[in-house]
Amino acid sequence: MTTKISHTADVQAFFSEVAGLDHAAGNPRVKQIILRVLQDSARLIEDLDITEDEFWHAVDYLNRLGGRNEAGLLAAGLGLEHFLDLLQDAKDAEAGLTGGTPRTIEGPLYVAGAPLAQGEARMDDGSDPGVVMFLQGQVFGADGAPLAGATVDLWHANTQGTYSYFDSSQSDYNLRRRIITDAEGRYRARSIVPSGYGCDPQGPTQECLDLLGRHGQRPAHVHFFISAPGHRHLTTQINFAGDQYLWDDFAYATRDGLVGELRFVEDAAQARDRGVQGERFAELAAIQAFELADLFILKKYRRQGIGRAVALQFLGGEGDWLLRCYAQDAPAVAFCNAVLAGLSRPAQAITLEDEPDLLSFLVSGARH
Ligand code: FE
Repeated sequence: MTTKISHTADVQAFFSEVAGLDHAAGNPRVKQIILRVLQDSARLIEDLDITEDEFWHAVDYLNRLGGRNEAGLLAAGLGLEHFLDLLQDAKDAEAGLTGGTPRTIEGPLYVAGAPLAQGEARMDDGSDPGVVMFLQGQVFGADGAPLAGATVDLWHANTQGTYSYFDSSQSDYNLRRRIITDAEGRYRARSIVPSGYGCDPQGPTQECLDLLGRHGQRPAHVHFFISAPGHRHLTTQINFAGDQYLWDDFAYATRDGLVGELRFVEDAAQARDRGVQGERFAELAAIQAFELADLFILKKYRRQGIGRAVALQFLGGEGDWLLRCYAQDAPAVAFCNAVLAGLSRPAQAITLEDEPDLLSFLVSGARH
């Protein structure tokens, strides 16, 4: 039988003393938190029969985690950062705050103070031979009106999946910019198509994930902070459709409504018009706002067993969007049309019966 003592008055009094509750000096909030950490740690040690070897291994692990600056990475990998988003979503829902672009995790690789530009910016320093990527979007306030003067702070990885400041081979603030939205709330950026990336295979985060039987990979993505005086700060990302880790992200950052589509253009004349050398470049469709009521219908729809038969796509337009549903055969199209008819936005279902390759490509980007 497991011996337990943490509940006794003596041990509880001891923890209170350790947490500084027997004197006035110090910070009451920190005391409250540390007391809870001690109480919960003691329960965990007792309930799971943590051995002394396991305890000291964990202490050593924390030392190594800090030594490699990977605490933030582990918080993302263990889903705690995503949990904070879910909790904030629930608080918002309780307060009646719904709609708008969903939030998602910041991750550990933000650097403050990126160069500031009005309306548009080039983000790369020209040293990476990646495919040129154009992205643009429009920021709206909670009232739905375009927001001029908002700050859109963007950062993303290079074609090797590394970030400036964390990769000393890159110039300062490479692939990091702050753009102030114009009179219509719009921002535009030229950059390069980023690559996805993973945890250092030799690092302590991957060491933990290995023990959980999990990979440490993320899909390609672009990070956003969006802020404006008098408005709540939004932390979010666009994750790229078609990436094999889109819905298998070790950091759980991909969310419905945050999937962007890269459209590759191969046209020498268009490339020249946009100042691109060669003939190939990419355009990333911006984040589009959508309604939570619509999202609910889509989730319910996936639960009805047709999830793998269809792919759902948000196609951005100028201040509007179209939901398109690709289905594998006529009955699935009929089902889609019945569901989509109930949405408050324009929507259409398209059969891809004769285009199995395109269907499987699209479905690979849909959550299953
Ligand atoms: Fe990232």
